[in-house]
This record gives sequence, C-alpha cells and structure tokens, in this order.
Amino acid sequence: MNARKPVAWMSTKFPLEIPAALGMEVICPESAAAAAAGKGESGRLCRRAEGLGYCADLCSYVRMGMALAWDGGLPKPDVLLCCDNICSGMVQWYEAMARTLQVPLVLLNFPYRQSQVSQGQVNYLLGQLKAAIRQLEELTGQQWDPQKFQEACLWEERSARAWQRVLDCAMARPSPLRSMEIFDYMPLMVTGRCRPEMEERLLELARELAARRPEGEEYRIYWEGTPCWPVLGQVVELLDKRHIRVVADPISHSLGFCCQDLESLARAYCETINGVSLEEGVAMRAKLCWRYGVDGVLVHYNRSCRPWCGDLQEVERRLRDELELPVVSFDGDQGDPGAFSPAQFETRLDTLTELMAARREAR
Ligand code: SF4
Repeated sequence: MNARKPVAWMSTKFPLEIPAALGMEVICPESAAAAAAGKGESGRLCRRAEGLGYCADLCSYVRMGMALAWDGGLPKPDVLLCCDNICSGMVQWYEAMARTLQVPLVLLNFPYRQSQVSQGQVNYLLGQLKAAIRQLEELTGQQWDPQKFQEACLWEERSARAWQRVLDCAMARPSPLRSMEIFDYMPLMVTGRCRPEMEERLLELARELAARRPEGEEYRIYWEGTPCWPVLGQVVELLDKRHIRVVADPISHSLGFCCQDLESLARAYCETINGVSLEEGVAMRAKLCWRYGVDGVLVHYNRSCRPWCGDLQEVERRLRDELELPVVSFDGDQGDPGAFSPAQFETRLDTLTELMAARREAR
C-alpha cells in the first residue's frame, strides 16, 4: 500500500488550513527559493531559468521556482495551490509550473480592495474556497472533515500566539534576536503553523531567546522588505559593525492567521501585506515601529518585487513625516546577487547611523 501523503506546492499566502485539514504535505516554492539563495545557489538558478527563456526582469523567486520545477529540485507535487492576494504575477508563475510539471492548479482570486472587506467579496471567496475543497477532495481521495478543519484552525491560532511571543523577544533592550535571525524560523510558520507540535516548538524558542544575554546593540531599526538572501551574511556583518540591530520587519509579522470557519478565513486572507490599501500599510508599519521602539528605518527596494515596491516611496515619506524617524533606502534583490551593491549599502548605512545619532542627541 502506498502511504505517501499527497504533496502540494503552495504560494505563501494560500489558506494553509485547507491542505492541512486534508492531510496534505505542503511545500512553499518561495521559501525553497529563499533557502537556495541563502546557500548561494540563486545566481545559478536564475541563469538556468533565463536559459529556459524566462526573462531576467521577472521576479527572482519566479525564475528560481521555474528552474527548480524543470530540474526536479523539490519533491514532485500532485497539485499546485496558488492565490493572488500578494501578487498577480504569482498566477502566471504557477500556471507555468503547472504546465511544466503537468499537475492540476487550484487558483483563488482575491479582489483588490481599498476599504473594509465587503460581504460581496467574502461570498465571492467562499464560492471559490468550496470549489477548491471539492477539487482537492477528488484529488486526494479524502472527504472534507469540518472537525479536522477546526483542529487545523485551532493549532494555527495557538502557533500564531506563540510566534508573537518569539517576535516580542525583540522588545527587550538589547534585543536577543540577532539581525535577520528571525527569518531562519519563518518556514516554521509558513508551512507548519497548522501542526499540533508547532506551538510548543515556538514557545521553547521564545524561552531560549529570552534566556540570552546579548550585548552590543546601539541602534534599533525596522527593516522594510524582503532580506537580500544571497548576501545575508555580508548585510548582517555591516549592520553589526555599526551596532545596528534589526528588531522588526513586515514579513515575519505577517504570518500569524486566526480564523474559525471558512468565512473568517476568507476575511483573514484578504488582509495580507500587499493586499491592503496604502493607509492600512502605513498604519501597520507605524505600529511595528512604535511597538519595537526603533531609532530608524531601512528600506530595501527589492528589484524583484514590483507589487511590494510600487508605493514604497510614499510609505517612506509618511513614516519619515508621521513618526519623525530617519528613513534611508538602498537597492537590492531577494534572490539575484547582481542587484546588490555593497558600496551603496555601506554608504546608506552610514547615513542612517549619522541621522539616528543626531536624533538621539537632539532628544
Ligand atoms: S513579485 Fe513579489 S510577491 Fe510576487 S512572487 Fe515575486 S517576491 Fe513574491
């Protein structure tokens, strides 16, 4: 008897509760691309995708994901699960992977919104969610069990609370979390947050972090955007050299979902970071800057991610004006090492350090 669980490749903000309730194994190609970039493989994977005809202007996660799909770098999926609540380019990416891998694609369309989520939008999503569940029932041979779905939601809520405890370790001064260290733990939440064991694992991590006695933090910053994975070590070294510590970022804070039924699930997944209005996006960032007591903001203009960077200049301006914080930006990429200039990064960091020092003195 074949005991292998059905495998799904899933976009980061697809409702994980659904494949979890159906007992599926879930892999996130964006996390896999980030991990490959962290191991220094992104340049090779991007060039491989370009050789296959995927243009260099595409997001580097898309290029790396296509290379992994072609070359078999991940366990082969039985189905792809995608939704466009953070990025519409994701749809074309998953369609291309579905054609390459010759597996079905389950797609959820989230309408863009400027204000509160309307009941009409929720109904539209409920129809799609029910159709997706039927499609996955057929594919897995499993019947949808509302009890299992409730359990997945419950474990997810507990994981979200425990994850917040981990994130809040950075409120201590100095923060026990090294700059960018939080991103090492992010995959636990991306694909593992509906598992029963995750709550205790995260609480144990929070206890370990709280027991640390760190030294050397002078400035606390909010990092806006995705890390530059291929040069992460270099970035951390340059931050440490200036006694700057990253204590908050938008991505690690976007992973805790809480829902009790399909309707609250539909609402929760409308609230993803690129899916909210400019006002909500600024308010969310301002809240993080206040909560973690930052001295400044460093903005990463990630060449890959146009949906993220489109309104960043206005976000920058508002954070600078409304919070009266120094805000400095630099250019880079989450996956393509060629888009990062160490010289520019150092110059911008020096500017940020000077501005933070001047602000502190003025106070
Ligand atoms: S463009 Fe941005 S949101 Fe879209 S897949 Fe790439 S990194 Fe993700």
